[in-house]
Amino acid sequence: MPAEAPPAEAAGADIAGGDVIDGKAFAEGLRARVGAAVPAFVAAAGRKPGLAVVLVGEDPASQVYVGSKRKATVAAGMESFEHRLPDATDSATLLALVEQLNRDETVDGILVQLPLPPQIDEKAVLAAIDPAKDVDGFHVVNAGKLAIGEPAMVPCTPLGCLMLLKDRLGSLSGLEAVVVGRSNIVGKPMAQLLLAENCTVTIAHSRTRDLPEVVRRADIVVAAVGRPEMIKGDWISPGAVVIDVGINRVPGDEGKTRLVGDVDFASARRRARAITPVPGGVGPMTIAVLLRNTLVAAHARAGLSPPAEL
Ligand code: NDP
Repeated sequence: MPAEAPPAEAAGADIAGGDVIDGKAFAEGLRARVGAAVPAFVAAAGRKPGLAVVLVGEDPASQVYVGSKRKATVAAGMESFEHRLPDATDSATLLALVEQLNRDETVDGILVQLPLPPQIDEKAVLAAIDPAKDVDGFHVVNAGKLAIGEPAMVPCTPLGCLMLLKDRLGSLSGLEAVVVGRSNIVGKPMAQLLLAENCTVTIAHSRTRDLPEVVRRADIVVAAVGRPEMIKGDWISPGAVVIDVGINRVPGDEGKTRLVGDVDFASARRRARAITPVPGGVGPMTIAVLLRNTLVAAHARAGLSPPAEL
C-alpha cells in the first residue's frame, strides 16, 4: 500500500503519482493571449470588444463571480458593461434588457448570470440572447451547432477542459473518454467536444450501472457531478488523464470549509498520468475562456477572423 498522500490542497510535486495540471497557469496564459490580441481588434474595428454581464438578485456567490468577470474583462483591455437588477425583477423586464443588449453595437457578448430567481423563465431568457453574442454557449442554436459539428459558441467550462486535455495529450483521436455528468452546461457539451476530437465517448449519469467499471475503461475521465470526492482512485485506469470539474464545499479544519472536487484527488493521482486539482484546475479556466469567447464573438461580428492562437 502506498503511504497516505496529503490532502488535495497540500499535494505538491513531491508525492508519488501523476502530474498535477496547473489550470491556473494555463488560464493566466490564455488571458494574456487574449489581452495581447485586443489592440489589433481595436485597431481594425475602431472600438473595444464589449462584454455585458447581467446579475439579478443578491446571491453572494453570483456577486463574487460577476465581480471577477468584470475585473478580468477590464484587465484584458475589453469593455465591461454590468447590469444589476433587483431580486424581484420579472421575466418581461429582463427580456427587455436582453433585447436592448442584442441591439447594442458595442456589446459583443451577453452573459446572464445563473441561477435566476424562480419567477423568471430561465429558458426564455437564454433563448432571447442573440446566438452571435451568446458567449456562454447555452443558446439552443449554439448547442445544436456544436452537436452537428458547425462552428459554435461553446460553453466556457467544457471548452476550458478540452484546452487542458489537448495541451497535455496533443491528439485525442481514438482515446476512450468517459464524461460523468450530463448537464447542458458541462457534461453534454464536453461529450460533444470530445466526440469532435475523435474520442470514443461514454456519458455516465446517476442511472449508469456499475459506474466504477465504466470509468475504469477511460483514457480520459471528466468528472462533472457535484458530489464531493465520489470518484475513487481505484476507478481510474493507470495512466488516464483526469479532469475534475466539481466544486464542492465540505467541512474543513477549525470549523472552516474547504473546496474539493468530484474526484478523490490523492488516490486518483496515484493512478493517473495527470490530474487537475481543486481548486486551481478547471475553475480558473472558465473566466479565461469567457474572455476568449468574447473576443472571438467580437471578431465574428466585425467580419474579422479570430486570432489563430485563441
Ligand atoms: P448538475 O447538477 O446539473 O449535473 C450533475 C450531473 O451529475 C447529472 O447529470 C447527474 O445525473 C450526475 N450525477 C449525480 N449524481 C450522480 C451519481 N451518483 N453517479 C453518477 N452521476 C451522477 O451539475 P453541473 O453539470 O452544473 O455541475 C457539476 C459540477 O461541476 C458541480 O460541482 C459544479 O459546481 C461544477 N461546476 C464547475 C464549474 C467550473 O467553473 N469549474 C462550472 C460549472 C459547474 P442525472 O442527469 O442522472 O441526474
